[in-house]
Order: sequence, then C-alpha cells, then structure tokens
Amino acid sequence: MSEDFYSVLGVDRDASEDEIKSAFREKASEYHPDVSDDPNAEEKFKKAKKAKEVLLDDEKRQMYDQMGHERFEQADKRGATDSGAGGMGGMGGPFGGGGGGAGGMNDIFEQFFGGGGSQSGPRQGADLKTRLTVELSEAYEGVTKQLTITRPETCPDCDGAGHPPDADARTCSACNGQGQRTTVRQTPLGRVQQTQTCQQCDGEGTIYSETCSTCRGEGQIRNEATLQVEVPAGIRSGQTLRMEREGAPGENGGPKGDLLVEIEVEEGEEFERDGDDLRYRHPISFPQAVFGDTVEVPTMDGTVEMDVPAGTQSGETFRLRDKGMPRLQRRGHGDLYVKVQIVTPDSLNEEQREALEAFAEAGGEEIDVEQGFFEKLKNSF
Ligand code: ZN
Repeated sequence: MSEDFYSVLGVDRDASEDEIKSAFREKASEYHPDVSDDPNAEEKFKKAKKAKEVLLDDEKRQMYDQMGHERFEQADKRGATDSGAGGMGGMGGPFGGGGGGAGGMNDIFEQFFGGGGSQSGPRQGADLKTRLTVELSEAYEGVTKQLTITRPETCPDCDGAGHPPDADARTCSACNGQGQRTTVRQTPLGRVQQTQTCQQCDGEGTIYSETCSTCRGEGQIRNEATLQVEVPAGIRSGQTLRMEREGAPGENGGPKGDLLVEIEVEEGEEFERDGDDLRYRHPISFPQAVFGDTVEVPTMDGTVEMDVPAGTQSGETFRLRDKGMPRLQRRGHGDLYVKVQIVTPDSLNEEQREALEAFAEAGGEEIDVEQGFFEKLKNSF
C-alpha cells in the first residue's frame, strides 16, 4: 500500500504551489541519499520527488485528484504505451482500441504522459506495427493466418540485464550511483541547472565488469517469431488488429507492448468491394435483355439464380440482398449489386445475320449492312 502524494509531502489537499515546493525542499534535505543516514532514504526521496512532480503539474494533479492514488499509479505505469497506433478504423471489442478497456480517461492520460512514465519504474515496451495481406474470400469467411515477424525480445542469456549474472558490479563513479548528473552552467541569462541521465552507466548507477556477449549489453535481441493471427470475418483494408503483449519487451519489469497488424484485403477479379457491399458485372445477350431470362450469378457463397426482367437496359443494376460481405462484429451481410451489360456479338453466323437484318427492317431501320454493320449495331446500344 503506497502513500498518498499529499501525505508523503505532508501538505493539505488544497496546498498551493509554493507550499508544495517548500515541503519538497524540506523532504529532499532530509532524505537526499547523499546526506541521509536513513536506510530507506533513497526510497523516501524518490517518493517525495514523484509526489512533487505530479502535484506541481496542473493537469496531472487534477487527474490525480479525480482518479485517486491507486488508479493513478496504475495508469502511470501503463503510461509508457506508444499511442501512435493510428488507423484503428473505428474497431472496438476484442481488438482495436487504444487504452485496453479503461475508456476515455486512460486515453487522455496516455496523451499527456507522452509515452514517458517515470525514468526508473517499470515501463511498457513499445508497440510494433506490421502488415498482413488476406484474400477477399478469407475476409469473407474469417481466417487464422500465420505471421512471421522479427521483433526485439528480452535477451535469453542475461534475462535483459545486459551483463552476465556473475559479473562484478561497482557503483558508477561518474554519477555516484545516482544514474543522473546535474550540471550548472553560467549563461547570459543566469545559472542554468540541467539534470541528465548519466552516460557512463546509462542511468543505472552501476557499472558491470562484463557485458553480455549475446546482446552486447542491450538486454534485447532481435528474434523471429511466428504468430497465429485471428482475422475476423468482414475485415476491411486498412483496419488494424491489436495483439496484446506481442510487441517489444518492457523495461524494468514492465509489460510487453502490443503488436498492431494492419490488414490489407486483396480484391478478387470478379468482385469490387464497397464497404460491406460487393459489385459485380454480368454479361447478358441482347435477346436475354429483350425477352428476360434467369441467369446464374457468382457470389462469395456459391452461385445463385437471378431474374433479368424483359426490357432490361445495358448497365442496369440489380441488388441481391445479404449477398455481400459479412458485417464486422455485427450480424448480417452487405448486398451484392449486379450490373448487367449487354454484350454485342463480334461475329454472327448466316442465320443470325439474316434474322438481325430482318429485325432492323421490321423496325423501319435502314442499315447499310455492307458498310460497317457491326459498328452501327454497337452504336445503337
Ligand atoms: Zn544479453
């Protein structure tokens, strides 16, 4: 059970900025690890520092007051997630969504922490992004796809420490084990105090006699992993599936980030997709258009019969209800729009030719058949 930030500093809940600052100065002089004999000084100093940082930031303080200590701390730990997922395509439910169920509060929180979180506490690993292509029929049925990616993983030889477990450790002399170095510079505008992560020890405060040869001290290696991706029926191009805890490893014991898989749906030759609807062109003959007929039309789910009424014009569109793509995470399907096109024959046998000439004549048309019969026939449609 960790302590409320106000009681850590010993101030009231309505304490002013100045009161918080001076309360922190008092605690700092009491518990600064360089001066204190208290065995828990470092931890107490860190707590006071954290409390001061949060309470002096208006937005964070407001959030802290609203959320309460426990929830604030939890959200803070999660605050390291990379919120640059993008392109979530409005998907909710088991995949998609930035904050993992905590709702709007969490999203806002992640924004103003900017993926930072505290320097030394557990930090969630970065989100990784990749792409996966599926066929239209797979998007129709839903499919489990194998996806092989190369991603950073915790080094198995040093367990992420960056050094062998038996390496000798000594306190970093550059920062006296603080992990940070404060420099004071005189500038034309006055004294500027700057605190930076110690370069010598990378902020750890400790130097090790050996570096892990597998990861060269990074604590991470790149490894190939094959994952099973559940692609739901009805998925569209550009939508992203979020695979939780399949991203980069966290730091200081933090959880892994997520893997974001952007889906590309390949369109087949037959169908054009328009949201959940499909479009298809079907050729019919001139007599079929004139007299009407029943034609066979392909769908994603086998062929169906469709009535073409007598007197159908070329380019007319018919709707087959519920023969489109399944609606993602909802019941039902889109529709299939069938656009019929009258195909003009480019060769006729003698009998057909005579019949067509008779047809034209009966309609009072005078066609000079010898000179470009077919061109004029095409023009008439
Ligand atoms: Zn290693």
